[in-house]
Amino acid sequence: MKTIDLKGKKALVTGGSQGIGAEICRHLAACGADVFVNYNRSKEKAEVLVEEIRKAYKTNATCGKANVANATEVKAMFLQMDKEIGNIDILVNNAGFETVNHVLDMEEEEWDSVVNVNLKGPFLCSKEAARRMENHGGGVIINISSIHDAVPRKGLIHYCSAKAGLKMFSKCLSLELADKKIRVVSIAPGAIETNMNREEIARFGKDKFEKWIPQGRIGEVSDVANTVVFLASDLADYINGTDIYIDGAYMNHTIQYDPRPPRKE
Ligand code: NAP
Repeated sequence: MKTIDLKGKKALVTGGSQGIGAEICRHLAACGADVFVNYNRSKEKAEVLVEEIRKAYKTNATCGKANVANATEVKAMFLQMDKEIGNIDILVNNAGFETVNHVLDMEEEEWDSVVNVNLKGPFLCSKEAARRMENHGGGVIINISSIHDAVPRKGLIHYCSAKAGLKMFSKCLSLELADKKIRVVSIAPGAIETNMNREEIARFGKDKFEKWIPQGRIGEVSDVANTVVFLASDLADYINGTDIYIDGAYMNHTIQYDPRPPRKE
């Protein structure tokens, strides 16, 4: 029987300083991987996480700044990783961000800022990673999408469009890289409580929110991180070019009324 073992593997997680990304870093390190924690604004959180990982898991960890939507900063980040961690085996394109606005009030800058981080960022980072992986026996690229890559939502036209693009990007990339032994998989979370949506959950009420989710609970960051370490491992060697939804069946619950008769005694 095989277990998840990432000893000797070297991983980069974008937006790794908090939320889902930070938990992915912890899980990768817990399975033995050395981890590069990317941050954009949250330097201090990234540094604290690196210390936590070194102490708790005794693997190599470091952090570095890059706006994933900026090609020059992304290139510099990968050179830093080459020096401080080594050749990349696992890339997790996790960095993401959203604003909420009416389409008719949305200016070009707002559209670009969301699409660039959620879609252009994974393109820039995947290119740097894959160029290294192809000379190094292969690797795995995991893109963190969203149920909104398939479920449209008012106020999030830029985010939904970017995540839908990311889903297709993952599929195209897997076709282009499969012969280089590089797998690409998209993971699409439902509602996971993080800084991204904490205020929104509180505004609607957690109880009410959880009633919309068939499994009856909001997801935890570990729900996503558990899936990442599995997909990054050899156990998932034949999983390629597909997408995995982690949402407690939330996205399937579009019809809210229940037509079933009462249960028989
Ligand atoms: P979060 O706590 O707000 O974290 C977002 C992360 O993205 C931060 O670490 C942030 O880094 C990073 N980031 C934002 N812009 C960046 C940029 N230009 N360059 C580099 N990093 C950048 O949100 P989260 O919930 O953990 O989200 C993580 C991913 O999961 C996102 O892709 C999001 O779309 C996706 N997702 C989340 C949910 C959910 O319910 N939470 C559901 C579906 C999908 P800095 O703080 O350093 O700027």
